Amino acid sequence: MNAKVIPIRTLPPVHAVPAVPTGMPAPSGRLADVRGRPLHDLRMSITDRCNFRCTYCMPKSVFDKDYQYLPHKSLLSFEEITRLARVFAAHGVEKIRLTGGEPLLRKNLEVLIEMLAGITAHSGKPIDLTLTTNGSLLAKKARALKAAGLQRLTVSLDSLDDAVFRAMNDVDFPVADVLAGIDAAVAAGFSQVKVNMVVKRGVNDGDVLAMARRFKGSGHIVRFIEYMDVGSSNGWRMDDVAPSAEIVRMISSEMPLVEAEANYSGEVAERWAYRDGSGEIGVISSVTQAFCSDCSRARLSTEGKLYTCLFAQSGHDLRALIRDGRSDEELAAAIAGVWGTRNDRYSELRTEATARAPKIEMSYIGG
Ligand code: SAM
Repeated sequence: MNAKVIPIRTLPPVHAVPAVPTGMPAPSGRLADVRGRPLHDLRMSITDRCNFRCTYCMPKSVFDKDYQYLPHKSLLSFEEITRLARVFAAHGVEKIRLTGGEPLLRKNLEVLIEMLAGITAHSGKPIDLTLTTNGSLLAKKARALKAAGLQRLTVSLDSLDDAVFRAMNDVDFPVADVLAGIDAAVAAGFSQVKVNMVVKRGVNDGDVLAMARRFKGSGHIVRFIEYMDVGSSNGWRMDDVAPSAEIVRMISSEMPLVEAEANYSGEVAERWAYRDGSGEIGVISSVTQAFCSDCSRARLSTEGKLYTCLFAQSGHDLRALIRDGRSDEELAAAIAGVWGTRNDRYSELRTEATARAPKIEMSYIGG
């Protein structure tokens, strides 16, 4: 008999319904895992769809016209997302980042933002609400997002060279339209935008200096991200990674940089300020300098699975608990049970072999 071979890339995500421990204390805002890492950040993927086909994230060879995206009923509703966000806030989450897929593709996103913007962190401060976008729909939506209460924005832009950028997003999308999106965001009141550039050796590492020059003195912060082995579809190889140290050296040789202090413990980007006071850049070195030891991020997939690591192979099905009629207290207990036993530190243990193991795609779990 011929067994059907399922390629690794199409393996469905594995998940289990988490236990709901009894006798858990009420959330104190100070949940910690077994390594003492607090729960501070929550990334919520609100759609698994994207209008780009970035070759390192959603390559066309996998995400083609036959690719099965999640059906609408699988997605967490706005009410479910907001309810979970409140429970996470009670446990100490202070920052929520909406991502995807491309979050601006989610219909009526402004309504969700308004609902989330009303949440108060356990500390009494309003939740720090931010969003990562490819910028393609920003010119149209920036005003509505600001009016709904979005505080900050990150825009991904991998090159200022139009040919390189069009080839990387693989849908022929021009640089000029992303820059127009950033301008629209500034006009709408997002004064300081973060710009994410994933650097892939031999593809766009020649554009690093141009990117730094373009945004130096603009008030915006470019963050150079090491190309990571997320998911199983991008064919990652260590040779494709341009180490952050090299990028800092390259920029600093033309525009001198000095290391700056982190804004808070667990911050993903390492900060470097221009010596002449004209702003800063960030580098995110999750491959060459793993920062698992102070990782305080939880991730919620579009369909409500909780992941405690970007490189996880399985998640915890919170949607099942919600749709089973569980109370907020029970949801809080389940989350405490998951976070309290968290022990993962994938990036610290990464090898070429672990990088080849099947993992959840970034478009599903949220970047
Ligand atoms: N669609 C939105 C966007 O383009 O920003 C949000 C989702 S995207 C998955 C979030 C971020 O993850 C983007 O800045 C993207 O460049 C980054 N990313 C995706 N795949 C990556 C990889 N393999 N290594 C490093 N960063 C990656």
